[in-house]
Amino acid sequence: MQTIDVIIVGGGMVGTSLALALARSGIQTALVEQQTLQPCWFSIDDPWQPRVSALTEASIKLLDYLDAWEGIVAQRACPYTHMTVWDGEGTGEVAFDANTLPQKRLGYIVENEVIRNALLQQLARSTVRCVDQQTTLEYKLSGQGGEVVLDNGEVLAAPLLVAADGAESRLRQLAGIPSNQKDYHHHALVTTVETALFHHHCARQVFLDSGPLAFLPLQSRGEQHYCSIVWSLFPAEADRIEALGDDAFCHELQSAFEHRAGNILNVDARFRYPLRQCHARQYHRQGVVLVGDAAHTIHPLAGQGVNLGFMDVAVLADELIKADGRGDDGFAPHVLDRYQRRRIGHNALMMATMTGFQHLFGANDLGIRWLRNTGLRLTNRLPLIKDMIVGQATGLSNDLPEFIH
Ligand SMILES: Cc1cc2nc3c(=O)[nH]c(=O)nc-3n(C[C@H](O)[C@H](O)[C@H](O)COP(=O)(O)OP(=O)(O)OC[C@H]3O[C@@H](n4cnc5c(N)ncnc54)[C@H](O)[C@@H]3O)c2cc1C
Repeated sequence: MQTIDVIIVGGGMVGTSLALALARSGIQTALVEQQTLQPCWFSIDDPWQPRVSALTEASIKLLDYLDAWEGIVAQRACPYTHMTVWDGEGTGEVAFDANTLPQKRLGYIVENEVIRNALLQQLARSTVRCVDQQTTLEYKLSGQGGEVVLDNGEVLAAPLLVAADGAESRLRQLAGIPSNQKDYHHHALVTTVETALFHHHCARQVFLDSGPLAFLPLQSRGEQHYCSIVWSLFPAEADRIEALGDDAFCHELQSAFEHRAGNILNVDARFRYPLRQCHARQYHRQGVVLVGDAAHTIHPLAGQGVNLGFMDVAVLADELIKADGRGDDGFAPHVLDRYQRRRIGHNALMMATMTGFQHLFGANDLGIRWLRNTGLRLTNRLPLIKDMIVGQATGLSNDLPEFIH
């Protein structure tokens, strides 16, 4: 049996970044993952990966601190400097730009696999013990962390187990941590399209009766322009649209988007994700602590999911590193309580905001329609309110640890 300080289960974007952050501070860490942890490299001409994230400035700072940002930009990433949101059933529209911000950008759109690969490249150079392609992990929880039995029978033990194993987290369930679940009654269709018109680095989202449709800018390849699509639909409508042939799909998409990207010239394979909100009622129990989607999943309409996960990573690493510095046990409940206090309220507020948006834009009631269109128009005319929203969207108003300031 090998005993170490922390075992992280799940090597997605959140688990790999936490492993790197802890290893940097000399905390002995193992990362256990069911898929491969071997990095690869995406060049500009490789096929697009279907899932992307709109990274906030705060997430970029964390990735930079972990030395992964350079590797992301060297592969492919698209800055966005503008954002437009409008009501497809009315006349309300609000447009944001990054002119007032020192960094002159609102964030970056990056494929999830590109982010993960840049993190894996750093992981390969770190002291983290990486154990991948594990299919039948067994856990023995002791009340203070526990043991993980690997496929080959080897046992890893630690006083702190981190569940970074995604929305269906088995570790969260085994630890008996309850969660609040809510079906959004939306399925997201996700794909990449080639558009006739350049996006001018603008992230655009239209709220339709059926749900929000986002066009997120990707890097152009010569004269060819691309956007990543997240189209949230009621399940029956998602069935219909998913079944369309490519030409009919492109046609329907361009008219739903009011031809603002011109004709849709090509579409990649489409993927579908049922959308659920899930929020754990506590973030730790008996030496098992939750981060990322294992703790919370949220509607993608504001592109916040992994950004919240990255802020969990920053705050948990901050608390564990400080505890280590004081000579405290990182698994001590008061240390993990501090992590929970700093994150749970913030994440809950973001979820409530997304639910509010979904109700506001999902309503057919004439009064609510008037209200939201007036609200969008008014917001568009109030520079101070717009600056506040832009400030929030960068993530820099979070309670960030010193090391990523
Ligand atoms: C359509 C859509 C669009 C989105 N757009 C955005 C966006 O623009 N911006 C944004 O911030 N967020 C966005 N999100 C959310 C974002 O994708 C997630 O929040 C993020 O991927 C969560 O990362 P994670 O590492 O916590 O979990 P995951 O990515 O789910 O990773 C979990 C990892 O754990 C591994 N694992 C699972 N079980 C085990 C096990 N038993 N043993 C070992 N390993 C295990 C898995 O293989 C996986 O590698 C979007 C989500 C959706 C559905």
